[in-house]
Amino acid sequence: MHLEEYRQRRDFAKTPEPSGTEPRSGSRSTFVIQKHKASRLHYDLRLEVDGVLKSWAIPRGPSLNPAEKRLAMETEDHPLNYAEFEGVIPEGEYGGGTVIVWDKGTYENRSARNGDIISMAEAYKEGEIKFHLTGKKLHGEYALIKTERGQKNEWLLIKKKDRYADARRKLVSHEPRSVLSGKDIKDVRQESAA
Ligand code: MN
Repeated sequence: MHLEEYRQRRDFAKTPEPSGTEPRSGSRSTFVIQKHKASRLHYDLRLEVDGVLKSWAIPRGPSLNPAEKRLAMETEDHPLNYAEFEGVIPEGEYGGGTVIVWDKGTYENRSARNGDIISMAEAYKEGEIKFHLTGKKLHGEYALIKTERGQKNEWLLIKKKDRYADARRKLVSHEPRSVLSGKDIKDVRQESAA
């Protein structure tokens, strides 16, 4: 487990987020995208790799259009049970704001070198991860590519061309709600305040 940074940033007496000490269940690789209204709205893509959720914050969210590369800033690893987290992180705490589970499902690693599949950990180290999503909203192949220039934690999320690619459909605006609860950000915030 590599959750030291995750735990250091948070006071679990104050935030309802999981501390990451619960055991995992099931054996399929999970992916989740959490819509997070913090100081700025963004979408947190998390992929289960070797017992943690590798995480990227995507300001504009995923696109179905292969021509649109979406900036994805790598953030600290999160615990596996963070994939079910919806709620309000108190103001003044790290990531303060509201979180919903915008999409969730499983993924299959499609990362390859010379035609052979390599492990997710290896693909991550090389800065080129390919994966096939089976979610409630997102389907098909995506790639995360680490950029050469700029900051070290900067990646791009790109939809690969397949039958799920769609240059016109704007999924983040057309389907804003949680796949777990059906709630939107505003519902969760208001319920927490009540
Ligand atoms: Mn976030």
